Amino acid sequence: MDSEDPSVSRFREFLRIKSVHPNPDYAGCIAFIQRQAQEIGLEFHQVNFDPPAEFAVWVTWRGTEPSLKSIMLNSHLDVVPVDESKWDFDPFSAHKASDGNIYARGTQDMKSVGIQYLEAIRKLMASGLKPRRTIHVTFVPDEELGGTKGMVPFVKSPEFQRLNVGFGLDEGGACPANSFLLFNAERALWQIRITVKGNTGHALHFIENTAAEKSRKIINAFHTFREEEKGKLGDLAAINLGNVTTVNMTMIQGGVQPNVIAPEIVITFDLRITPKWSQIEAEDFIKKVCTDAGDEISCEYILKGPVIPETPMTPENKWWTSFKSACDSEGIELLPLICPGATDARFLREVGIPAFGFSPMNNTPILLHDNNEFVNENVYLKGIKIYEKIIQRLWMTEGE
Ligand SMILES: [Zn+2]
Repeated sequence: MDSEDPSVSRFREFLRIKSVHPNPDYAGCIAFIQRQAQEIGLEFHQVNFDPPAEFAVWVTWRGTEPSLKSIMLNSHLDVVPVDESKWDFDPFSAHKASDGNIYARGTQDMKSVGIQYLEAIRKLMASGLKPRRTIHVTFVPDEELGGTKGMVPFVKSPEFQRLNVGFGLDEGGACPANSFLLFNAERALWQIRITVKGNTGHALHFIENTAAEKSRKIINAFHTFREEEKGKLGDLAAINLGNVTTVNMTMIQGGVQPNVIAPEIVITFDLRITPKWSQIEAEDFIKKVCTDAGDEISCEYILKGPVIPETPMTPENKWWTSFKSACDSEGIELLPLICPGATDARFLREVGIPAFGFSPMNNTPILLHDNNEFVNENVYLKGIKIYEKIIQRLWMTEGE
């Protein structure tokens, strides 16, 4: 047996804790993190909300200038379920193959990142460095269920206020190429239910102003828009998806019987609103589609997440300058994009804290939520070095 880097062993130990839905072992995770904090010599904190299934834990490395805004390094503890029959290895054994690939649920999403933050701090502390700004490494539950038991109550809590966070890092994604993905925003999820009423009668007539005619206008308008947005994607569809708004008709209901003109039709659309649009522009667009289609049309929002502006990647954002200079010094090529899905970072941006999504995993196939999720141990170890540099540059950031 060749000896394994202890950073890799600790990562594999973390992966073996079954924090998988629907019954994640959060107690096991918390005990693990508390032990890491003790070993490294960091403060451990926990807050339980009401109900007690809602919580957050964090590990703090106190800065030499503690009045300055702090840096938050966030990850979620939970992982999505597995279909074990589709895996080559037990997804909670953290099997390491001879090529160094470590297979387990959570290797990419996102236990790697959580432990890399801690390993980077462990190394920085061992070399005798002291941070200027305070660093908080936060761990939250239930990101995969929308964050309602973790990040959502956490950002609203007085405990969070006291952390005085100025900037946050959260998850990004694996990149099959040599570059690294960087998310600076996310799309907002909207779901709308449009109820269309119209004249009814026997289906052998040309009855005017029917619900079906009006529905056709609405469906056409949304699909014309859908084609326009799709057309903007170009060749890099997967990368540009966050820059456009998707709209899909997901449900249609109505009618009484085959020979009666439907008096009412209900159509449901799922929209993912790009932050390239403002909330008002998006609302106006939907309103216009409904108004143009005729009378007796009402629109109700089932879901309406806020459209949150992008965290700027310009020199005015001093956190970006620090982050970018760290990446430059490590020879990292960043691929900035708007996350087409949703992560806990949106709750930070929503309360006005600039945040980036970044997972240092390049040359790695995208296997988040997929079978045989893995990361190579060399990619993982390089990621720790990258975080060492990023954390140092971030704590040197100018300003309050
Ligand atoms: Zn995740």
